[in-house]
Amino acid sequence: MRILVTGGAGFIGSHLVEYLLARGDEVIVLDDLSTGSLANLGSLRDNDRLSVTVGSILDRALVGALVRGVDRVYHLAAAVGVRLIVDRPLSSLRTNIHGTENVLDACAEHDVALLLASTSEIYGKNTADALREDADRILGSPLKSRWTYAAAKGIDESFAHAYWREHGLRVSIVRLFNTVGPRQTGRYGMVVPNLVGQALRGQPLTVFGDGQQTRCFSYVGDIVPAVVRIAEEPRSIGNAYNLGGAEEVAIADLAYRVLRITKSRSTITFVPYEDAYPEGFEDMLRRVPDNSRAHALVGFTPTTRLEEIIGVVAEDLAARAGEGVHTTRPFESGRHPDPALRTRPAHALVES
Ligand code: UDP
Repeated sequence: MRILVTGGAGFIGSHLVEYLLARGDEVIVLDDLSTGSLANLGSLRDNDRLSVTVGSILDRALVGALVRGVDRVYHLAAAVGVRLIVDRPLSSLRTNIHGTENVLDACAEHDVALLLASTSEIYGKNTADALREDADRILGSPLKSRWTYAAAKGIDESFAHAYWREHGLRVSIVRLFNTVGPRQTGRYGMVVPNLVGQALRGQPLTVFGDGQQTRCFSYVGDIVPAVVRIAEEPRSIGNAYNLGGAEEVAIADLAYRVLRITKSRSTITFVPYEDAYPEGFEDMLRRVPDNSRAHALVGFTPTTRLEEIIGVVAEDLAARAGEGVHTTRPFESGRHPDPALRTRPAHALVES
């Protein structure tokens, strides 16, 4: 298969690219390198089935030209990370709405199947025991910039659904819940790399609010194969699927676990929200997925435990701090059948 991955130089995108190449696909990456980095694809540099175009999903002509020649698109490109969204709401909205519209439009025009990466953010402040895909969304004011991400992604899903209904676009949606793993950066707020990085540097771990808010972290190595299976399952067309972790953890508890696993002597400091984020921020107290729909469709079961995830993230951050490169890959633990395919000769990264 010839596959286009938008956002393929990002954290999740680069793992997806690695997975697709390892099973023999040809992959084209479109990424503007805003939060992603070519270093995330460094281990694939010599793979002759990978090409990279540095450009934006806002470039309609470019998106059209790339979509025209492929069998499937995975659309992961987006402005992500709470800090980025709150700091730069306008460009985030543009990228996440107009950029996605370009991708949908091109896929519809050229009859190319599409997997749209969405997010658990769309559920907003719904603190249900287990969020089903048809759960109500409870969003804060649109004047609070935190909610613009959920608003934009909600529009993306509605657009996708309408393209499916009115134009027969083969589009499937996954809603990712706090995916973590190697190569994720803490720069845009993500809590796991942030806390692990602080622990490794001997700095205080910053827990926002009272730390009783909870999340269900999932491992990128569990998520990526499920995303591919959903994309390739025709019954997923026109539907959305939650993909999240199995274990609910309070952020304060997460911080204690990070200290224990990294054997760090850092302290934990509780930071009031108003000091942690610019104005326009509101947190979610709880976000728990019901994964049963994805389980019924493709057998999705998140198996990697939080302790293991923290260990892998710590290993990755330590390696990157030492060498300035990304060395740890989630499929190295035997998850992926054919790592040899990653080291094919030449053609390297093409920047346009
Ligand atoms: N958080 C924290 N310390 C940090 C970064 C984040 O306590 O250094 C909190 C944040 O307020 C939220 C949770 O951790 O309650 C998860 O934040 P993240 O940005 O990773 O994901 P999201 O809020 O999108 O679920």
